[in-house]
Amino acid sequence: MIKLESTIKELARVGENRAKILARLGLKTARDLLFYLPFRYDDFSQTKNIADLIDGENANIRGEITLIQNKRSFKRRVYITEALISDDTDTIKIIWFNQPFLTKNLKMGDLVSLSGRVSEQNGQIIMASPQYEKISTSSLIHTSGLIPNYHLTSDLSQKQLRSLIKQVLPLSQTANDWLPEQIRKKLGLINLSAALKKIHFPLNWDDIQVARQRLFFTDLFLRQLKSQTIKREIKSRRAEIINFQKEETKKFVDALPFKLSASQKKSAWEILQDLESSAPMSRLLEGDVGSGKTIVAAMALLNVALNKKQGALMVPSEILAEQHYQTLTKLFKDYNFKILLATSGHKAKPSDIESADIIVGTHALIQDKVKFRDLALVIVDEQHRFGVKQRGRLLNLPADKTPHFLSMTATPIPRSLALAIYGDLDISIINELPAGRKPIISDLVLSKRREAAYNFVREQINSGRQAFVVCPLVEESDKLGVKSATKEYERLAQEVFPEFSLGLIHGKLKTKDKEKVMTDFLNNKIQILVSTSVIEVGIDVANASLMLIEGAERFGLATLHQFRGRVGRGDYQSYCLLFPTSDEASNPKTITRLKALLKYNDGLSLAKIDLKLRGAGELYGIGQSGFPEIQIASLFDYDLIKKAQDEAASIIAGDPELKKYPQLKEALGEWEKSVHLE
Ligand code: ADP
Ligand code: MG
Repeated sequence: MIKLESTIKELARVGENRAKILARLGLKTARDLLFYLPFRYDDFSQTKNIADLIDGENANIRGEITLIQNKRSFKRRVYITEALISDDTDTIKIIWFNQPFLTKNLKMGDLVSLSGRVSEQNGQIIMASPQYEKISTSSLIHTSGLIPNYHLTSDLSQKQLRSLIKQVLPLSQTANDWLPEQIRKKLGLINLSAALKKIHFPLNWDDIQVARQRLFFTDLFLRQLKSQTIKREIKSRRAEIINFQKEETKKFVDALPFKLSASQKKSAWEILQDLESSAPMSRLLEGDVGSGKTIVAAMALLNVALNKKQGALMVPSEILAEQHYQTLTKLFKDYNFKILLATSGHKAKPSDIESADIIVGTHALIQDKVKFRDLALVIVDEQHRFGVKQRGRLLNLPADKTPHFLSMTATPIPRSLALAIYGDLDISIINELPAGRKPIISDLVLSKRREAAYNFVREQINSGRQAFVVCPLVEESDKLGVKSATKEYERLAQEVFPEFSLGLIHGKLKTKDKEKVMTDFLNNKIQILVSTSVIEVGIDVANASLMLIEGAERFGLATLHQFRGRVGRGDYQSYCLLFPTSDEASNPKTITRLKALLKYNDGLSLAKIDLKLRGAGELYGIGQSGFPEIQIASLFDYDLIKKAQDEAASIIAGDPELKKYPQLKEALGEWEKSVHLE
């Protein structure tokens, strides 16, 4: 008897060889198969009359084989199996390639069900490479209704996989349904075994929908349980109380050359309120590029320093650290704060760290050896580049002295997604740009317009502006993009803009040299700055009004939007010119995708498009946080996620150790193992 734990080899029709193939997909036991979910369905729910078939549609037909034969096409060196299928209405030609064995299986006179794409060839309607099934078998699983599609590997077909799943499906009865009954009932979710049946062999779209809801809910729920556990753990620790310095804060804000936007004010208020609590803050500040997160961070740091405690601002790159250091130094010039820059190029002495009020630095900052005097607040900029691990390390501090934690990101995350991924964080959102910003004008430059574009750049620079040029990583061997950026720099400096002064910056430069280049760019001694993509995050130069991006198709839209956000920060009309690699310029998909940047000026819309076009793996680094690709859609289901969070919160509040829920506890343990949280 087969059980869930049975190895795949114990199944009928699985030998040594097939077991190896299945193992490539991570399928080792009957349970693995049962939980291997389809990522897509073909809708063959209607059987069509052959006479009604239309070019281009996916369809399901049934009929009798009136002719079947193999041919060999010598020109194309393939076997072709041709068949004629007739129903009461008409006859259609079917073609299969390189499957000569088909004629052993399918004979004239057999009744078959076929599903596939209908196309027109020489004025004749045909079906090429359809899925087929002889109708004599007891129930149709491959060609009728909604056909699930699974991710495959070589030497394995949908059909084979589906048959195996059909074999193990009865085991779903014995699968442990650990979702507490009361939650299941309350939310109207179906039970596990019904869900597994419906997801593999749905009768209609409604089946798929309710099955997905149920199966995806469990993952969202476990994630929220984990988040709520972390949250509870953090809140049980002690942080330093930072008293809100109302008068000083008001003075600081009044002295700014601009007025805070409403959502900057709201975010700052949320943060400052958190700081007044002895429970450590865990907050995410999300705002599009240029929305003004730095100033909000500065208001928090101001209050910490006024309370005579230490605040640290951590960033992913040296250059950004340098920039923030300068910004804060300027902002706090009337205060007697000791601001310290601590990066690998600017090694800070322990005594400096001890005496600093505000420390700006890179990851180097949180190396174990660094000893702070009285660290009360940690702010991390560009959070998505900052691992959960580093954050964990911060929390390895004594329980009575956990710093408040604020993480800032410009990655546009739909609220639902933020809730799903960062369920342990509270969220503040800056959802507007400072008043009076001119939208950046973006353009897609194909090779025949490159010269004209360069002339435009020339005009802009002659009128005093500056330009960024971002280059993609091209070769695998050139991990930091040093080669490609250097090459582009030389080309531009020698052939295109010999009259201007150009600079080059990349990760391999020594700290001193990087700083020199940045300072020269800030002071307009460098007019065109060529850089790799790695270096770009977060730099702010108000006089720069041009962003040129080479090999634009290599980046996600959200990333391109981030690059574009580097300009348009001052009073000048700014421009973003996207240059696709020349052999990509004729790819309509590429062009369509890049054109989205011309149309949309906000990161969120672009992120959504990216998600559709490129999948979620790349975006948000979701892959790393263990989300199965097929489940991505559920990340946009705010209601479902919110329910998962509410239920998880109420369980954790009443029973933090899950003592009353042993099955749930076990499932959570298994899940944690499976997603390898950093
Ligand atoms: P980001 O959110 O991308 O980190 P920054 O904090 O770097 O954005 O701010 C971008 C620019 O906008 C900075 O030059 C900053 O001084 C300016 N800025 C911030 N807030 C406002 C505001 N309310 N009005 C006008 N300019 C602002
Ligand atoms: Mg920033």
